[in-house]
Amino acid sequence: MSVATTAMVQAEAARIGFGAGGVATLDPSARGEALDAWLRRGYAATMGYLPRQARKRKQPATITRGAVRAVVVLENYAPAPDERPAPDDAFKVAAYARGMDYHLVTHGRLHILAEWLLAHGASLAHVWVDDGPVPERELAERAGLGWIGKNTMLISPEHGSYTLIGSVFTDLALEPTPSRDIDRCGTCTRCLEACPTDAFVAPRVLDAGRCLSYLTIEARHEMPPELATQTEGWAFGCDICNDVCPWNLKFAAPTSVPDLQRRPVPDRRDPLAFERLDESSFRAQYADTPLARPGLDRMRRNVRLATAGRSDRAP
Ligand code: SF4
Ligand code: SF4
Repeated sequence: MSVATTAMVQAEAARIGFGAGGVATLDPSARGEALDAWLRRGYAATMGYLPRQARKRKQPATITRGAVRAVVVLENYAPAPDERPAPDDAFKVAAYARGMDYHLVTHGRLHILAEWLLAHGASLAHVWVDDGPVPERELAERAGLGWIGKNTMLISPEHGSYTLIGSVFTDLALEPTPSRDIDRCGTCTRCLEACPTDAFVAPRVLDAGRCLSYLTIEARHEMPPELATQTEGWAFGCDICNDVCPWNLKFAAPTSVPDLQRRPVPDRRDPLAFERLDESSFRAQYADTPLARPGLDRMRRNVRLATAGRSDRAP
């Protein structure tokens, strides 16, 4: 058995099908004070797990006991042109949620990488994908996979920002891949201007309580009336601040991962798509998709608001 090098890990990540891979140290976060200020200002809204996770997010070495590195990968979920919202759609669903739940899809693929690490010198390989206190975007930036844009997303100069970030925390002391120290947002402010709910307080500062992704997925309370009329047709999440980004317009290429591609349901042209379902048929159709998180009642609410509040029916 050969002990893995960073180049071997990157080659294995590419073989599995990840768009990019790198290695980050688990040094303390450089954004700890910014995270504390963001939490103090209440921008996490009702997501109580975020302040609970803050200590670990600021000290990534404390996330998985014994880990010294994070292998970080990007999973491309960019939609093909025929998977995007269309003019006759009654409501819209965020691109990452048009197929199977990425937690299931990317977890499975990360486990292949974890098993490979265990077979190549690691005795620890813990998989994370948007399901713990991992500061994924910062670790991806540290590993040289891109920069955190003004829309708060990780932007890869090769792939754009329709990417999920997965990581494997390991005790293998791999050589870190160099951070590229880039910020190619420049003077662009398209994402900040395009947000229909004015959720950006400043570049890279998001008031989650105003963001449609939070309001349609996480929030259990009713949408504030002044925002309920600003949904632009989005019933689950929102892609606007990704869609307008020139790095996506130039570089995003459709995903080749079949499970992340669009399913026939829901029929987005049908404003009654969820009204027709009962709980058991909703579960049968959506239990393995991101739409299971809000559940049937909230999807009905979201579609009603999206349909009623839509001021612009263009995609
Ligand atoms: S996801 Fe939509 S609502 Fe949220 S910040 Fe981006 S553009 Fe605004
Ligand atoms: S739209 Fe412009 S400012 Fe916003 S993330 Fe993309 S490049 Fe940066």
